[in-house]
Amino acid sequence: MLKYSETHRHAIVLGGGLLGLEAANGLLQRGMSVTVIHNHAVLMNRQLDSVAGQLLQDQLRAKGMAFELAVRLQAILGNSEQHIEAIQLDDGRVLACDLLVCAIGIQPNIQLAKQAGLYCERGIVVNDTLQTYDPSIYAVGECIQHRGQTFGLVAPLYEQAKICANHLAAHGMAGYVTPPMATQLKVTGIQLFSVGDFMGDADSETLQFSDSFLGVYKKIVIKNHKIQGAVLYGDTHDGRWYQDLIEQEHDISELREQLLFGQPAMKAASLSH
Ligand SMILES: Cc1cc2nc3c(=O)[nH]c(=O)nc-3n(C[C@H](O)[C@H](O)[C@H](O)COP(=O)(O)OP(=O)(O)OC[C@H]3O[C@@H](n4cnc5c(N)ncnc54)[C@H](O)[C@@H]3O)c2cc1C
Repeated sequence: MLKYSETHRHAIVLGGGLLGLEAANGLLQRGMSVTVIHNHAVLMNRQLDSVAGQLLQDQLRAKGMAFELAVRLQAILGNSEQHIEAIQLDDGRVLACDLLVCAIGIQPNIQLAKQAGLYCERGIVVNDTLQTYDPSIYAVGECIQHRGQTFGLVAPLYEQAKICANHLAAHGMAGYVTPPMATQLKVTGIQLFSVGDFMGDADSETLQFSDSFLGVYKKIVIKNHKIQGAVLYGDTHDGRWYQDLIEQEHDISELREQLLFGQPAMKAASLSH
């Protein structure tokens, strides 16, 4: 991609998720014109709600990135030398490009496991001790499927490795539980943090703060006095704190008044009492 960016001009990135946007930003910084194509109306829809997604889109557009949202790729069009020259969208439009980057998610490579006779679905199915259906074979990482879920970030994999190692060494009986996933986008100037269930359901409550002048948006989803998830845009200082409160299943009744304004506000309030 770095080499192409020196000699080619128009890049299309398929997939407006974490990696797609990081790739798009890198290509943009190297002087390419970049259009991101995403099949959902909200960028990073697995980590952001529509408000935060729009803030992100506005900030990236201001950097020069272009977007085609809620559309799908229909065809890749090549020239007589078999080099890409355009893509066609499912609405019929054709967009010229000379580099296409696909960042549309991962799929566990389970071929070896299947050949070995291990039970697989989308990934190699493991139990809470990371043991496969063959008791002498354990599996951790992006290749596994645990309680229906597959993985694409390192944090849960470290935890899997720890639990698995404990069992192999016959230390303890801990079972693997998927931690709430936290996400940060590595694009300079963009402050974004998302953790846990940030959409909520009929039984949850939402605390929300928005300042369009400062470009700050905060949303915390609460159920039974415990934080389920959070989305922060523009000011992510308290992301780690919210994540800790989620992991500790902390009762936030006492913190509720200052919760949206973060740890400093809470400390200030406790000093003034
Ligand atoms: C561009 C990119 C950016 C990313 N950024 C982030 C990020 O910012 N934060 C984050 O948390 N995650 C990120 N990820 C995801 C993270 O890299 C993966 O979740 C993690 O690497 C998966 O670890 P793993 O050990 O399961 O698999 P891998 O890291 O893929 O390691 C598997 C290894 O097994 C080897 N292998 C495969 N088959 C065989 C075989 N038959 N025999 C022997 N060896 C074999 C492979 O060569 C490879 O070395 C990123 C991924 C990509 C692609």
